[in-house]
Amino acid sequence: MKMISVVVPVYNEEKGIKNFLDKMLIPALAKVKYKVELILVDDGSKDKTLEILNSYETKAVSTVKVIALSRNFGKEVALAAGLREAEGDAVLTIDADGQQPPEIIPKFIAKWEEGSDIVTGVRDQYTKHGLIPKLGSKLFYWMLHLMGNNSTVSGSTDFRLIDRAVVDEYNSLTEHNRITRGLIDWLGFDVAYVEYTYGARLAGKPSYNFSKLFHLAIDSFISMSTTPLVIFGYLGALISVLSFILGVFCIINQYILDDPLHLYWNGSVQMAIFITFLVGLLMVSQYITALYISHIHAETQNRPLFVVNKKKSKNLKKK
Ligand code: UDP
Ligand code: MG
Repeated sequence: MKMISVVVPVYNEEKGIKNFLDKMLIPALAKVKYKVELILVDDGSKDKTLEILNSYETKAVSTVKVIALSRNFGKEVALAAGLREAEGDAVLTIDADGQQPPEIIPKFIAKWEEGSDIVTGVRDQYTKHGLIPKLGSKLFYWMLHLMGNNSTVSGSTDFRLIDRAVVDEYNSLTEHNRITRGLIDWLGFDVAYVEYTYGARLAGKPSYNFSKLFHLAIDSFISMSTTPLVIFGYLGALISVLSFILGVFCIINQYILDDPLHLYWNGSVQMAIFITFLVGLLMVSQYITALYISHIHAETQNRPLFVVNKKKSKNLKKK
C-alpha cells in the first residue's frame, strides 16, 4: 500500500501542539486511506515541546517519528530535515500552529491522485491579519513577479504535498540558504493549487516577526533572481548615455553654432556633466562585477543542470 509522510516543523509550541495533533491533525489523518507516517521535527524548542512530541502516541498512523534538531535552525531547515527522513510516496508539510486546516488534506491527496506532482496550499487573499502583514505580503509577491519570477503564485504557502519524485530531487539539492517554496518552484513538475482560509493560531505567538520576514523576503529575492542588479546596471547606462548626449549637445551649441541658446557653458557645468557621465560608468562597472559574483553564487549553489520528470519520459537507462 502507498504511504503518505506528514512532516510538521515545530518550534516552541508547547501550549498548542497537543491540541493541534489530537483535535486537528490526527482526526484528519485517520480518514486518509493510505498508510501514514507522521514526522514531527522539533526545531530546537526551548520549552517542553520536544518532551510532548516524544511522549506522543496514537494508533491512527503507522509510525510517529520525532526528529530533534540540536538547536533552532529555522523552519526552512526543519522542513528539509523532515523531507530527508520521509519515506512515503508523497510528503505533506503542514504548520503545527493550526493556521493551516488539516481537514482539507483529502483535497491535496485527490489532486495528487489525479497526477499532480506538487500540490500547493494557497491562502485566500484577505485572511492575513493586520494592515502591515497584508501590505507586506502583497509587496513581496509583486516584487517577486516584477523580478521575473512568475511561477510563484501569490499567497502560496508551505502547506504542500509533494510527490516522491520531487522529494528525491529536492533532497539532492545541496545549497544551504534554502527557501523551500522557491526551490520547489525551481524544480518544476506539475503543480496544482488548493485554496484555504488561513486560521488563527491555536496558542502562542508566531515566531516570524517583521525582521525575520524581511530577511526571508530579501533572501528569496537574492537567491531567485538577479533583477535588482540589472535595474541598477541599466540605470547607470542610461545616466551615462544621457549625460553624454547632453555634453555633445552643449559642445555643438557652444563651439559650432556659437551659442544661439545662450546656455551658460562654464567650467562647473562641464565638470557636472562629466562627473554624471562617470557615475553612470561606475554603476555599469559595478553591475558587471556583481554579475560575476552572481555567476559564482550560482556555481556555489551547485544546483543540478536540469531535472528530469521520469514519469513523463520513456526508455531511459536505469541508474
Ligand atoms: N517553526 C519552526 N522553526 C522556527 C520557527 C517556526 O519550525 O524557527 C514552525 C512553527 O512551530 C510552526 C511553523 O514553523 O509550526 C510556522 O511558524 P509561525 O507560525 O511562527 O509562522 P507563520 O505562521 O507566521 O508563517
Ligand atoms: Mg503560523
